[in-house]
Amino acid sequence: MTERLYYKDQYIKEFEAEVVSCTEGKNGFEVILDKTAFFPEGGGQPGDRGFIGEAKVIDTVEKDDEIIHICDAAVSGRVNCTLDFDLRFSNMQQHSGEHVFSGVLHSMLGYDNVGFHMGESCMTVDFNGVVTADQLAEIERLSNEAVYRNIPVESIYPTAEELENYDYRSKKEIKGQVRLTKIGDVDLCACCGTHVAMTGEIGPIKAVSMMNYKSGVRITLQVGRKAFADYCEKNASVYAISALLCAKTEEVAEAVEKLQMRLKDADFRYQALKKELFAEKIKAVSGERYCMFDDGASADDARILADMLADKVGIAAVFSGNDDEGYKYAVVSRENDVREIGKAINASLNGRGGGKPNMIQGSVVSKRSTVEEFWNNL
Ligand SMILES: [Zn+2]
Repeated sequence: MTERLYYKDQYIKEFEAEVVSCTEGKNGFEVILDKTAFFPEGGGQPGDRGFIGEAKVIDTVEKDDEIIHICDAAVSGRVNCTLDFDLRFSNMQQHSGEHVFSGVLHSMLGYDNVGFHMGESCMTVDFNGVVTADQLAEIERLSNEAVYRNIPVESIYPTAEELENYDYRSKKEIKGQVRLTKIGDVDLCACCGTHVAMTGEIGPIKAVSMMNYKSGVRITLQVGRKAFADYCEKNASVYAISALLCAKTEEVAEAVEKLQMRLKDADFRYQALKKELFAEKIKAVSGERYCMFDDGASADDARILADMLADKVGIAAVFSGNDDEGYKYAVVSRENDVREIGKAINASLNGRGGGKPNMIQGSVVSKRSTVEEFWNNL
C-alpha cells in the first residue's frame, strides 16, 4: 500500500518516488506510487494535482485503499513529483476554515455538519438545524477570533479505548484507526483531510450566504485566498456601482432603491402619456373593421393600441414592425370571436400566434403591402 506522506507532513511540495504500476484507464494513465504526498479526493476535499515526472496529474482518487494518480502520460521507474501547492494550500485553508466554523457553530448551537462540498469558487456546509442571522454573525466573529489566536491544528490517533472518552464531531461511522483533528478548544473532529498547521494561516472566514436546506441550513463560506479574491471582486463591484450612482459605497443599496422608485414613477407617467398619444392617433377612426400600422410599438403596445381601437371599431387590428423584420400583431374585438381571423392571418401571412375569443396576438413574416391586401379582402 502506498505510503501517505501527507500524514507525516502536510507541507510536502516535492518528493521522489518509485512507480509501482501505470495502466491506461478511462480518464488517463492510472499511476500508483510506493509513496505519495498527493491527497486523494475525499471527505469533500478535491484530489491534488501537479506533476509526476513530465506527466501532468489531472486528479488523485482513492480506490480500494490505493491512491491512484490520474496522469496525462505514462511514467515509469524513479520519478520526481511536484504538487500544485497553491491549489493544495487553498484546499488546506478551506478545510481548516470549515473545521473552525463548524466547531464554533456546534459549540454554540449543538448542530452537526451533515454535508460539505468544496467547489472551485466557494464551499458549502450543511447543518441539521436552523441558524438565525444574528447567530450567524456571532459564529463568523468567533471563527475569525479563532484565526487571530493562531491555534495549532493537531492530528491525534487515539486507541479505541481512548476514543470512547473523546467528544468529537464525526460525519459518519469510521472503521479502523480514527484520526482526530484538534483545534484547541474550538474543534475536535474525525477527519482524514489535509489542514494548515496553525489557524493563523487560514485567513479570513466569511459566510457569504445562508439558505434553508432540508430541516436545517446550507451556508456558503469564503475562506483564505478565496475570501480575499471574493472581497476584491465585490469591492470593485461596489465602487463601480457607487461611481455610476454618484453615491457613497455604504449607501449604494439605498441609492438603487431610490433609482427603482424613480423608474417606477417614470414608467407610470410614460404609460399614461402613451395612452394619450394612442387616443390621439385613433381619434378619427370609426367603422366596422380597422387595421393600423405602427412601426415603433412593442408587442405589448400593439395589444394596448388594438384594445383602445376596439372601443371605436368592430374588429381592431394593429401590426407593428417593418418589412425586413416582420410584424407583431394584435387583433381585438368586443363582440366578435377573432380566432378564425387569427388562423387566416397565420395561414396567409406566414404567421404564428393565437389567443382568446376576443383577443389574439402573434407575429407574421410578410410585407406590409401583403398584409394590407389580406386585410382588404377579409
Ligand atoms: Zn478536516
